[in-house]
Amino acid sequence: MNIILLGPPGAGKGTQASQLVETRGMIQLSTGDMLRAAVKAGTAVGLKAKAVMDAGELVSDEIVSGIIGEALDALPLTTGVIFDGYPRTAAQAHALDDILSTRGRTLDFVIELEVDEAQLIERIVGRYTCAKCGAGYHDTFKKPRVAGVCDVCGSTEFKRRPDDNAETVRTRMAEYRAKTAPILPIYEARGLVRRVDGMADIAHVSAAIDAILGAMG
Ligand code: ADP
Ligand code: AMP
Repeated sequence: MNIILLGPPGAGKGTQASQLVETRGMIQLSTGDMLRAAVKAGTAVGLKAKAVMDAGELVSDEIVSGIIGEALDALPLTTGVIFDGYPRTAAQAHALDDILSTRGRTLDFVIELEVDEAQLIERIVGRYTCAKCGAGYHDTFKKPRVAGVCDVCGSTEFKRRPDDNAETVRTRMAEYRAKTAPILPIYEARGLVRRVDGMADIAHVSAAIDAILGAMG
């Protein structure tokens, strides 16, 4: 099964993708995570992407579609994939069609997390992750069970993203509205879109997605 999680920054795509990795053994392909890894490693892609990401703008379609193609090549066909943060433009949506079809994969669902943009700033400025294993947390909405200790790996080191500030978030939201939301009709025309209330609490959102995916996986 191959699915896209679609929604603006802070909608909960990463949170829900990691749930699906845990419960269904699917693989999460997050272009944001892959780009941040490239920036950290100082690769050619990372060097090109860094300033664009810091500004909250979109990295080029060629770069992100390239890294998605490479990531899929490393996976067995039987492994289900969650696309998180990709595609973000019409060009990427078309590239994904080619990437999937040349690899014998098909898209099963596009799950749109419907959210109230006004409340996303709070989600984003309160977001942090474990510096060791990458598990995601929130100052208010998803605290570790023991304060200051990662639930997953026990690390006490956490980090925040440089682009998770109120100013950059506004650019990222504007990019979503201008370039990403317009790709929904492409998938609507194919009957693939399913909508979920992304403002419900994390467990409810997971349950709604689970009901959509049913026994597939
Ligand atoms: P995205 O990947 O779409 O940018 P995240 O999954 O990183 O968003 O979620 C952004 C922040 O909001 C995280 O800190 C996460 O813990 C929190 N969060 C995610 N889903 C919910 C939810 N349904 N209710 C409240 N907070 C949430
Ligand atoms: P995210 O982790 O999804 O919030 O992405 C963080 C940043 O990485 C974005 O603001 C963009 O600069 C860049 N990025 C991630 N995915 C893509 C994509 N599919 N297309 C273009 N830029 C992307």
